[in-house]
Amino acid sequence: MTFWEPSKLVCDRQLTGSQALQNRVKTSLLHHFSVATALVFLTFGSIYLILGIKTSLGVFEVLLGIAQLLNLLYLRRSANILFSSRFLVASVYFMSLLIFLTGGLGNTGYLWLLFIPLFTMLLLERSEAIGWLAAYTVIVGMVVSLFLFNRLELPYTLAELRQSLIVYGLIIYLTYHNEKLRSISNEMLQHKNRLLHELTRKDPLTGLHNRGHINEVLKAAFEKAKREGQVFSIIMVDIDHFKQINDNHGHHIGDQVLKLVSDLFEKSTDDHTSVGRWGGEEFVIVCPESTQQKAMERAQTLCQQIAEHDFGVGKPVTASFGVISYRASFPSFEAMLVAADDLLYQAKSSGRNCVICSGEYNR
Ligand code: GH3
Ligand code: MG
Ligand code: MG
Repeated sequence: MTFWEPSKLVCDRQLTGSQALQNRVKTSLLHHFSVATALVFLTFGSIYLILGIKTSLGVFEVLLGIAQLLNLLYLRRSANILFSSRFLVASVYFMSLLIFLTGGLGNTGYLWLLFIPLFTMLLLERSEAIGWLAAYTVIVGMVVSLFLFNRLELPYTLAELRQSLIVYGLIIYLTYHNEKLRSISNEMLQHKNRLLHELTRKDPLTGLHNRGHINEVLKAAFEKAKREGQVFSIIMVDIDHFKQINDNHGHHIGDQVLKLVSDLFEKSTDDHTSVGRWGGEEFVIVCPESTQQKAMERAQTLCQQIAEHDFGVGKPVTASFGVISYRASFPSFEAMLVAADDLLYQAKSSGRNCVICSGEYNR
């Protein structure tokens, strides 16, 4: 049975929660990286300016350092994680290429290539990061080609360049696979979490929704009905003289009857209906967008199906039903459940194996 809208709402709330957590983690990472980048840019820029070497590079670096702090302010105000991440990556790309071209401090600029892959993967989504890295690699490749064809001067020896490009390639390869592994384990974890979540909502014996989950479904249905004035109905079911089945045939046969009744409910209800085990031999069926009349007809069909089914216990098994529909006068869904229980009690005292609805709505 697929889950009805209110269950989806409950799920959506949980998904929204995990998305919010993910955003918080990303924002925090971005904060750290922006501050670190600003510090590095400002420190190295100041060193260039103080030493009076490569002063234009120093000015660029100081300006980009300040830009990172402004980006941080923008992030705090707008919470635009994507823009701020791209801005930070673009700044670091720009600066590292500039340092690569000019040699940086002590002609060690080629070393700045090496942290680019990990930095990009950490800040951007995998597919976007691959695009950025490909573009960066093409630019580096073009610079190196120009150098090899003597069209451009670079302050490195051939050996330094060769080693750094090999290590750069290796780091890209390892980072990519690390990222792939991370996303596979993330998917597996999410899958396990979904399974676990399903388990916490299921009754282990019958496989129906458990009481906790049916409560959530009912609450959501009730809130929706209050908001949109849309009717829905509850059917409460209790198997008649179930104790006798246990006493006469044993507990395991009683369990089998519970499972068979649950199968019957599942087979006879549509995908929008939520069937739950309320406890013992009691069940609650939530029928969305169902009038009292419709719910009553459904309950009567189920009542007849149970009575006609051969459960293999020597005599017919029957059940009693109480049916109630939403009314604006109900203060809560719990009040609806109490009303359904009262009607079920009336069904028991009317001789069992029957359906009782709220008279007021029995039209
Ligand atoms: P009534 O028609 O008035 O509902 O009578 P009843 O015998 O069905 O109701 P009663 O409340 O007297 O007994 C319910 C029985 O259901 C008692 C309990 O042992 C049994 N029961 C509750 N949970 C389970 C279960 O998971 N498995 C089995 N086999 N029996 C259960
Ligand atoms: Mg009972
Ligand atoms: Mg009973």
